[in-house]
Amino acid sequence: MTVQLAPEVRGLLLPGTLDWLDEPPLSPYIGGTWRTPRSDTVIDVVDPGTGQTLTTYAASSAEDVADAVAAARTAFDDGRWSELDPEAREERLRHLADLLEADAGTIAQVEALDTGKPLAEARLDIAEAVAVLRYYAGWATKAEGSVIPAPRCFLATATREPIGVCAAITPWNYPLPILMYKLAPALAFGNTFVAKPSEQTVLSTAYLTELCAAAGIPDGVVNVVPGAGATGAALAASPGIDKIAFTGSTRTGQAVMRAAAGTLTRVSLELGGKSPQLVFADADIPAAVDGVMAGIWTNTGQVCVAGSRLLVDRRLHDEFVTELLDRTRDLVIGHGLDPATTLGPLISRDQRDRVTALVERAAADGADVRTTAPAPGRDGYFVPPTVVTRVRPGQSIEREEVFGPVLTVLPFDDEDDAVRLANSSPYGLASAVWSTDASRVHRVSRRLRAGTVWVNTYGVFHPTLPFGGVKASGFGRELGSAAVEHYTELKTTVIGL
Ligand code: NDP
Repeated sequence: MTVQLAPEVRGLLLPGTLDWLDEPPLSPYIGGTWRTPRSDTVIDVVDPGTGQTLTTYAASSAEDVADAVAAARTAFDDGRWSELDPEAREERLRHLADLLEADAGTIAQVEALDTGKPLAEARLDIAEAVAVLRYYAGWATKAEGSVIPAPRCFLATATREPIGVCAAITPWNYPLPILMYKLAPALAFGNTFVAKPSEQTVLSTAYLTELCAAAGIPDGVVNVVPGAGATGAALAASPGIDKIAFTGSTRTGQAVMRAAAGTLTRVSLELGGKSPQLVFADADIPAAVDGVMAGIWTNTGQVCVAGSRLLVDRRLHDEFVTELLDRTRDLVIGHGLDPATTLGPLISRDQRDRVTALVERAAADGADVRTTAPAPGRDGYFVPPTVVTRVRPGQSIEREEVFGPVLTVLPFDDEDDAVRLANSSPYGLASAVWSTDASRVHRVSRRLRAGTVWVNTYGVFHPTLPFGGVKASGFGRELGSAAVEHYTELKTTVIGL
């Protein structure tokens, strides 16, 4: 396979970064081999920074999905992974983490090229994936059961067992970390796996698959079906899977849940958000400006926990917005592989057009739209950082998940007003409180309807911290010990004495 690269992009890549793409091709990975896909649907791999098609691949068909699930089932049932000693699973997962870390430079370049994100952010993604993998490798030997105080004529135990075949459907904004939130606990507890990455970002998942084999994870334990929505729909409806973990939009999450209902498959859903950042008058203002910047410009706002709604004390509003716009002028918009870039393109032409349309509609509806830097005049999918004030609560720009570099600002009058505005969203993924008043921090945190509340900080992720949403942001928690519930089943054994 030949990868086409714009000359200016070729110059930014380390030599050899894409050599691995020549062999094997991008195709379904089933039972330890890259298969010829049984479908004519061709998907472009596009560089969002130039709009150029790098290469193409064929989408996995429903038959490919069925084969992948069958391979995972065979690998589960014959015990090649589930019946390994937990120490052996831990050792191989640690080996995989070491391999991933050793290749981090290459994978970060691949990820920056494929997603458009700045290289520095792509490096953090790989480091996070490694950390999550090491964390769950340790869990392989720690998922203990219990002895239950049943009537004394019995010995009763509850032990943790793997569920079986776990499936994952993942999005394009954080391809490797979000895959790892699902893959690492699934494998640690002895399950087998089928992954469907977003059609727009298949490269890092394909790379990881190669590393799984090198780490000694047996064939059939990890299977991958690259493809678009139809491939995901076939996986979600498969009668052969025991659990499906999904990250993406609320609408597709609902479709996944409907499909899973037909087969009574366990579901966990991490969906979108419209996360509020509440800045009170007693906040450390420079720190709050930093937090709001990080919350909305990171990954060009394509983050499920993007702090896309700034709620600020009315007395601070004008000064805060002015400071934010001043600081935003320092952002450097450009290709993700350019070391100077701090704000990359959006993932696709569709996403750019969607974000632009939402902003134009807000302006037409009377909002005050301010951008601080023109998007570069080239073919990538760039949108400038945008701050929208004079917004009406409930207006589409204030209510819908934009998934772009767009911040809406609403003033509040007091604590009750701030909490009311924060909770008025259909979403409930994350939130932040900026205040130096300890009592207020506790009062407000308790009242916010969100899976995570950050206080005087934003966007802190760690393998130990459970993550997930409420309301339209989904249910189920990833990361931390919460994953034990999602990737194991309790078995009760009762022995008559
Ligand atoms: P989707 O929810 O459609 O995509 C997420 C994943 O689901 C992708 O792998 C996608 O495949 C797959 N998929 C699509 N249709 C189906 C289906 N019917 N059954 C099963 N799987 C399916 O999100 P989009 O990429 O379309 O983005 C739209 C919006 O979703 C964004 O603007 C943003 O608001 C939100 N979003 C939220 C994310 C989060 O982190 N919570 C991540 C990404 C998007 P494919 O990509 O190949 O179509």
